[in-house]
Amino acid sequence: MIPQKTVQLLAVQSLKGTSSKAFFSTTVTNHKDYKLLVLGGGAGGCATAAKFSSKLGAGKVAVVEPADMHYYQPMWTLVGGGMKTLENSGKPMSQVLPKKADWIKQKVVGFDPKNNKVTTDDGQEIGYEFLVIALGLQLNYNQIKGLPEAFETPGVGSNYSPLYVNKTFESLKNFKEGNALFSFPNTPVKCAGAPQKIMYISEEYFRKQGKRDKANIEYYTSLPVLFGIKKYADALWKVVNERKININLRHNLVEVKPDSREAVFQNLDKPDELRTVKYEMLHVTPPMSAPDVLKNCSALVNEAGFLKVNKETLQHEDFPNIFGIGDCTSVPTAKTAAAVAGQCGVLRKNLNLTMQGKKPESIYDGYTSCPLVTGYSTCILAEFDMNGNPLETFPFNQAKERRTMFHMKKDMMPPMYWLGMLNGYWEGPKYVRKAMHLGLSK
Ligand SMILES: Cc1cc2nc3c(=O)[nH]c(=O)nc-3n(C[C@H](O)[C@H](O)[C@H](O)COP(=O)(O)OP(=O)(O)OC[C@H]3O[C@@H](n4cnc5c(N)ncnc54)[C@H](O)[C@@H]3O)c2cc1C
Repeated sequence: MIPQKTVQLLAVQSLKGTSSKAFFSTTVTNHKDYKLLVLGGGAGGCATAAKFSSKLGAGKVAVVEPADMHYYQPMWTLVGGGMKTLENSGKPMSQVLPKKADWIKQKVVGFDPKNNKVTTDDGQEIGYEFLVIALGLQLNYNQIKGLPEAFETPGVGSNYSPLYVNKTFESLKNFKEGNALFSFPNTPVKCAGAPQKIMYISEEYFRKQGKRDKANIEYYTSLPVLFGIKKYADALWKVVNERKININLRHNLVEVKPDSREAVFQNLDKPDELRTVKYEMLHVTPPMSAPDVLKNCSALVNEAGFLKVNKETLQHEDFPNIFGIGDCTSVPTAKTAAAVAGQCGVLRKNLNLTMQGKKPESIYDGYTSCPLVTGYSTCILAEFDMNGNPLETFPFNQAKERRTMFHMKKDMMPPMYWLGMLNGYWEGPKYVRKAMHLGLSK
């Protein structure tokens, strides 16, 4: 692709008088075309750019990403529990994006898939031969009445944002007595286990601090189940019953009243029924959606606003030169970084084949995983496919709370992410799983 740069420079110089003045009117239209354009430099975008920029060489791949920092979001569960700091979870974007890819530090604001172009918020048009969309999920905190104001007051936190995750641990430390409430919204979310992981961590924290008998712990979830996969849901029901945690299914947080420290939940089966509950601590998982910019491009998305890709090949249903990876896609599996890892290898193979004019043939099995941290030293490692069948790496019952799995989550997964996945080397545990099961697993 040939870069085009048009620079018009008009200089009018007055040579009259004792001083000379220069007037420049400059119109710069940067228009560059790339072999591969990647939108979003998060887990999926960064890994994809690493693979393809090393294969295609410098100047062929660009990543459009506005953020200064890249965060390893799964660590925020531990940050909220005081086991890691927010600083531990992030690195400057400049350090993690691949050196051979151009970084366009802008937001995508428009798509033109028929003409292979996107627009960024500084007015640039960027052309591409192939496009990978990895824009993640948008957090819609403002859809809960009173919540933005409530974040300004004590006791309200959310592990889902770097802005509010430190407030979770502050709320835990300052807890005296009363209700500790944990919510799960009425939308798809990333890491569906995270809203309850922090609840188990909090319960253990209260015990360690001698405050457990002063805390009433309640989980309010919009879902009709505690967890989507029965094997792990059964194990979690045991945990909540043993630890005397109250579960309220089909209840959605709709309002927070910071002045009276009350949370209002709607009964989704009887929408007129609202329940107002006092809180000493409230952990909010916000409603989420595909990013507005994507939702607004009807040619690219399904009815729910997610990028319309083939769930097995990750290729767009209507534009064969467009692929998707991660949370912003319509792939019907739980949205996690582990799923992104599993998709990486499929995307690498299928995009390569498409670049050679061939048909995609690699198939994504829907692998996803959720390390369900149940305290300061235990974890249930849920791993499953897009049909809800367990797809476990280890040859033992992973529905059991284990210390080993906790250390894998806390100590092994971060380096696997930073060094392996973001550099394009980690494509999920498929081969480890096969080896562990002596070749008998999928
Ligand atoms: C609290 C919490 C706990 C989690 N726990 C786990 C876990 O234990 N295990 C696990 O596997 N996963 C976990 N996850 C989920 C995991 O972090 C995500 O599923 C994963 O990051 C998704 O990758 P992605 O590339 O799709 O999106 P992201 O990594 O979110 O990246 C999206 C990128 O797109 C950029 N972007 C957005 N809009 C634009 C725009 N208009 N233009 C350009 N760029 C844009 C963003 O800045 C961002 O960098 C957790 C997440 C959270 C928040």
